[in-house]
Amino acid sequence: MKPTEKQLRQQVLDVGKRMSAQGFVAATDGNISTRLPSGLLLVTPSGVPKGELKDEDLVVVDDKGNKRFGRLKPTSEFRMHLKIYKFRPDVQAVVHAHPPISTGFACAGIPLDQPIATEVILQLGKVPLAPYGTPGTPELPETLMCCIRDHNAMLMANHGAVSYGKDLKQAWGRMETVEQFAKIMLVTKVLGQQKALSDTDVAKIVAARASYFG
Ligand SMILES: [Zn+2]
Repeated sequence: MKPTEKQLRQQVLDVGKRMSAQGFVAATDGNISTRLPSGLLLVTPSGVPKGELKDEDLVVVDDKGNKRFGRLKPTSEFRMHLKIYKFRPDVQAVVHAHPPISTGFACAGIPLDQPIATEVILQLGKVPLAPYGTPGTPELPETLMCCIRDHNAMLMANHGAVSYGKDLKQAWGRMETVEQFAKIMLVTKVLGQQKALSDTDVAKIVAARASYFG
C-alpha cells in the first residue's frame, strides 16, 4: 500500500532526525525530499536544522520548483532534487548530506569506486564523484548529470553526497552505506593497502544483487 501524505511527512522528519543524530550534517546543512501521492514534491525548508524540523516547516513544490504549500522557503538545493526526479522517473525520494568521511573523500577528489567491500557492491555498486558546482545555483544540478542515470548515490566534489531511491527508507539507507564505505576506504588507506575483488567475483555479486533487488 502506498504511504499517505501524513506518513511521508513523518518519514521526512524521521530522516532529518537521523541525519542530525548521526552527524551527517552540521547547523542547517542537508536537505530531504519525497514525491507525494498528488505528484507534487515535499521538500525540507531552507535554514532549519534537520533534527528540529516540524511538520509545518515542510514545503510542497511542483516539478518546476514553484512553491505550492508551506510558509517557509524551500531548500536552496531544490534544483538538484528536481534534476534527479526528472532523469530518474523511478526515484521517489532524495537525500543530500555532508557526512564527514564521505565529504572528506569528495574534498580530496577521490571517488568511492574500488571493488573491495562485498556488501557495498551488493547494496550500491560504485559511488562516483560528480564535478564541483556552486551550491544553491543552477550550476550544481548540471554537475550531477554525469552519474544520475547509472548510479543511486554519488559524491559531490568539494561538497558532500547525494543518494536517492524508490522511497525515503532506501534513499537514506544508501546514504548510510556511502558513509560506511567511506569509513572502510579510509581504514584501507590507513593500513596502506586494498585487496580488490576480481572482475569475476564482482560479476557474481552484481548477479546476486539482481536476484535480491530486481
Ligand atoms: Zn550541501
